[in-house]
Amino acid sequence: LLPGALNDRGQSMTLGVMGGGQLGRMFVQAAQAMGYVTVVLDADPASPAGLIAHHHIRTGYEDPQGLAELAQRCDAITTEFENVPAAALRTLAAQRPVAPSADCVAVAQDRIAEKAHFSQCAAISGVHPAPNATIETAGQLAAVADNLLPGILKTARLGYDGKGQIRVKTRAELAAAWEQLGRVACVLEKMLPLQSECSVLVARGADGQVAVFPVQNNTHHDGILAITEVHEGAVPVDLAARAQASTVAIANHLGYVGVLCVEYFVVDNGRGGSDLVVNEMAPRPHNSGHYTQNACDVSQFEAQVRALAGLPLPTPRAHSPALMVNLLGDLWFQPNGVRAEASEQPVSPPWAQVLALPGTNLHLYGKLSARPGRKMGHLNITGATLAKVRGTAAQVLTLLG
Ligand code: ADP
Ligand code: MG
Repeated sequence: LLPGALNDRGQSMTLGVMGGGQLGRMFVQAAQAMGYVTVVLDADPASPAGLIAHHHIRTGYEDPQGLAELAQRCDAITTEFENVPAAALRTLAAQRPVAPSADCVAVAQDRIAEKAHFSQCAAISGVHPAPNATIETAGQLAAVADNLLPGILKTARLGYDGKGQIRVKTRAELAAAWEQLGRVACVLEKMLPLQSECSVLVARGADGQVAVFPVQNNTHHDGILAITEVHEGAVPVDLAARAQASTVAIANHLGYVGVLCVEYFVVDNGRGGSDLVVNEMAPRPHNSGHYTQNACDVSQFEAQVRALAGLPLPTPRAHSPALMVNLLGDLWFQPNGVRAEASEQPVSPPWAQVLALPGTNLHLYGKLSARPGRKMGHLNITGATLAKVRGTAAQVLTLLG
């Protein structure tokens, strides 16, 4: 689907996205920058991507008319939200190219299938998931091996930002946690001694071309990504190379098309060194990859456009060390660094002062109201050296309180 060309209906090439959140918005922006017409399907009339797409179909993900209109208007379709029902993607795929495929998305939607996939890929890459057990029945709960405790019980489906998981130390706590989660299908993972967390983006084309991005070092607060740093040595170089190789193996083995992000733990190996463990994957561009917008020659969103449109995917180059700061709605309630009650009027953070610092790029998602915990935007910081980037980041964090 060449940019600027007409399709067989005599119309401009059109790319569609299931989901209207910020990831969809930034995909739309990248697609529009390359001349594509864009269509978003999302029920919310004020969805960040719906507000800026050429066309917004305001229906739910399973609405037959909405899906028919999306297929009719688009030359290819992607998704920005991993919990889009796989059946909806299958319906679309009967009419138009859809990437990633329903099958790939279905694996990422289910921690049990995801872990099984990672274990198969470990035979190629040597990077394993944490020791774990599937818990779908009372029998499986009773049979859990002692060495998985202390552990984390995670629902197999619909978990994100640390939600749908409970930390347990004993068998009694494990049983209570499973009750609390409603006895749904879960995975119990052994609690690992984390030294740090990182993630890797890969873009893969339908022809098997693969472009892997530099490794991202991630810091979370309260289960939500807070800061991503990317530079030479952000992750020990031997582990970074293994994480990239593992990510490519995971994408290849799935026959994945599009941008995929795989999260890893760097753990204490008990021998004074570090080891790498694969945690989970997202079948879409990822919050930890936003730095690519300002620090790389091809952003993760442009890579998604290229993979979907069948365009070349040369290896992306980071031309600057980078640091990304997530901007949560809480910032709108703490003028001068003093946290106000959430019921008070939101106040815009001091963007003019932030943007006066060199190498800062503000990305806001156009959400109409700020709420504590809501992802409102992010700030990318680039600079000639890592020391400059970190110096600017320290000033930014002081300004934002
Ligand atoms: P989510 O879908 O909410 O991102 P994750 O599986 O990534 O779920 O878990 C959220 C966070 O919990 C991780 O980023 C990590 O900090 C911590 N965590 C998850 N699994 C483990 C584990 N096995 N050992 C130690 N910490 C873990
Ligand atoms: Mg995670």
